Amino acid sequence: MSLHQGVVHQVESVALEIRVRGRVQGVGFRPMVWRIARDLDLSGEVLNDANGVLVRVGGSEKSVAAFIDRMERERPPLGRIDRIETQPFYGDLPQLFSIAESVGGASHTQVAPDAAICVACVDEITDPFQRRFRYPFTNCTHCGPRLGIVKGIPFDRARTTMAPFAMCEACGAEYRDPADRRFHAEAIGCHACGPKATLLRLDGRLVSGGQHSLRDSVDAARSLIEMGEIVAIKGLGGYQLTCDATNADTVARLRRSKRRDAKPFALMARDLDIVRSYCSVGGEEQRQLTGASAPIVLLDGSKRLPEAVAPGLATLGFMLPTTPLHFLILEHLDRPVVMTSGNLADEPQVIDDAAARDSLAGIAPYALVHDREIANRVDDSVVRVMAGRARVFRRARGFAPAPIPLPPGFEAAPELVAMGGQLKATFCLVKDGAAILSQHQGDLEDAATFDDYRKTLALYTELFDHAPVALVADRHPEYLSSKLARELAQTSPLPLIEVQHHHAHVAACLAENGQALDAPAVLGVVLDGLGWGDDGTLWGGEFLLADYRRYGRLGSFRPVAMPGGAQAVREPWRNLYAHLAAGMGWAKFATKFSELDLCADLSGRPYTILDAMIRGGINSPMASSCGRLFDAVAAALNICRERQAYEGEAAARLEAMVDRDTFRLEDESLSYPFTIENTGGSQLPCIEPLAMWQALLGDLVSKTPARVMSARFHKGLARAVVAMVTNLARRDGNIGPRFDTVALSGGCFQNRILFEEIVRRLEQKNFVVLTHAEVPANDGGLALGQAAIGAAHLINVKADQTEGSTPCASGFQAAS
Ligand SMILES: [Zn+2]
Ligand SMILES: [Zn+2]
Ligand SMILES: [Zn+2]
Repeated sequence: MSLHQGVVHQVESVALEIRVRGRVQGVGFRPMVWRIARDLDLSGEVLNDANGVLVRVGGSEKSVAAFIDRMERERPPLGRIDRIETQPFYGDLPQLFSIAESVGGASHTQVAPDAAICVACVDEITDPFQRRFRYPFTNCTHCGPRLGIVKGIPFDRARTTMAPFAMCEACGAEYRDPADRRFHAEAIGCHACGPKATLLRLDGRLVSGGQHSLRDSVDAARSLIEMGEIVAIKGLGGYQLTCDATNADTVARLRRSKRRDAKPFALMARDLDIVRSYCSVGGEEQRQLTGASAPIVLLDGSKRLPEAVAPGLATLGFMLPTTPLHFLILEHLDRPVVMTSGNLADEPQVIDDAAARDSLAGIAPYALVHDREIANRVDDSVVRVMAGRARVFRRARGFAPAPIPLPPGFEAAPELVAMGGQLKATFCLVKDGAAILSQHQGDLEDAATFDDYRKTLALYTELFDHAPVALVADRHPEYLSSKLARELAQTSPLPLIEVQHHHAHVAACLAENGQALDAPAVLGVVLDGLGWGDDGTLWGGEFLLADYRRYGRLGSFRPVAMPGGAQAVREPWRNLYAHLAAGMGWAKFATKFSELDLCADLSGRPYTILDAMIRGGINSPMASSCGRLFDAVAAALNICRERQAYEGEAAARLEAMVDRDTFRLEDESLSYPFTIENTGGSQLPCIEPLAMWQALLGDLVSKTPARVMSARFHKGLARAVVAMVTNLARRDGNIGPRFDTVALSGGCFQNRILFEEIVRRLEQKNFVVLTHAEVPANDGGLALGQAAIGAAHLINVKADQTEGSTPCASGFQAAS
């Protein structure tokens, strides 16, 4: 497909004005254009303006065509061309092609994401004859920090945390030379003029002795890691903690002192060969690991690293060195290191030097620091390849704040801000037909995280010169993001649009798949933890017929009480008890399965209190949640019964437990059966798990291995979800338009086995299946869906004002 529009054909020489839109500023685009134009002996100029890059070029028709072709093919690694428009140019052109002054003041074109160190920079820092040999802050226009150092616009050195470092003569010459890879690279420096790394003791004492054979602070840090020490590292977007991942004692010590009992640690290795000696790495996984985004990639691991690295999981999260600092630490280490965020338990990653000394001194005796301030907390991104495509689970370093183009129909969307959810919070700005999703912020319940969220929102407002006309938020009464939105709506003239949680999940999936604004409704299948439902109960296993404007709930999982509310989220056994009590009743269970250890275990717990709570509706909200069903099953299998150390632990362990051969080869009739029943006053079809529980408990009696049981549960659940979709598709009449497209969203779709099986079975039945890739299926993607729904609503209102009609199919509810 060609991006050109209206190339003018003339017999001999032509002059064109070429507008290039996309990520074309601050990534080395102008020097690339300059080089090609000089190469082809063209006249003209290139400049940055508020809309991107503008090229005016003259020469023979053939050379100009070759110029456009090469501009597309040779675009710089971090550049992205969205659109090239050309028109004839009739003015004068400089004979010698040149780079002209930028015009139009501050542009709202894009601050690029941070990019991992490029090959050319690696060559320099490993070459003793280059002036940047072992310089830990080496970068160029093809790599290096962007979001992590930016404080304002336009993106030039004065508005980054590089401002205090005046360029030396040598760096300045590179900066001014269009033929140089560092032409207008804002963050460059060298040993003489840039930031410096220092090794400190966090207890304040001086580092002394034994350094004679060490080259520098970075080498000293490497040596400490080899000796079994935990070292704090001031990274690009926050402090990290690192240690030898093969040293079981050190990893266990890190876990204890970080007060993180089970959440898996990320790993970093020097090169792919080291990663391959612990994990299998497929083609797409390799592309992700070695790309400029350089995220943590979840890989199927073998068991050769200490269990404490990723307790109870079958995957390891690996990344390759992301900055020259990391590269130099790992250069002479032939084993992987733990590279986890520098924080205690659930607090956000530390970015401030004083805070690092306060909170990390008890964990790491040493810190490798530097004198460049961290402007913004940017966590490492997490990606997993599922069904052949990379799926982003946590979108931060390397991805944010790259804009996501909104689908056809949203061109006229007004500027708005969507506030996101509560867990894995992000927010999203709409501007110029694109959605700008913030980097992962975390759980807003933590005060420091919520502070960061507000600070980042203010920064984005400035960076993108954003003036919203409306606010969009989740309907949940207690989400801090929603409360903030309500406060803002009260103190400003901005209207607030409240959006149902699972509708936002579906809309996020539609938007990232480019589903047009006026496309027919799809069936959204949202397998999720918890979200606020329209009936005041909690939802989380939902089948919604939806487009951007409306949705109708066609089916759900069977609602079951959560005795203890938030406590039931932390303690899986509570959900197990509630499921058994709701399905067959405790008395029947206790009689029929008295021989089970499970029965003895639950008998010893305060179940009569739970019964009273459920009966009296005391702190026991009803929830149709798929996540809580996973918790209950993990508790039954005794994989995670007592307490979850992190959100989703039970489900992650249950997935890790699946026996692949059983899953692939065993007869379907042995997978656990679910039924679909019309229950309750609403007569809404529900996925009813009672038959599944009976089969599972029977397997427990016959001492079936947990690995086999987990496989049977996953396959049974996938079959049930697909059966529900098929039933709903077959129904006709008054439920609204029929659908042939199914959109999958919600945190449970990060389970690869469940996800791939549901996709496979739906495609077998000829459904078009839309899935998440660029945006998380979990609540990290919620803000994008809210933004799309908010924009659709406002576009609708505008259309209604001009046309005076409100189309609304029966069975649909509009966003309010
Ligand atoms: Zn570079
Ligand atoms: Zn310098
Ligand atoms: Zn959700």
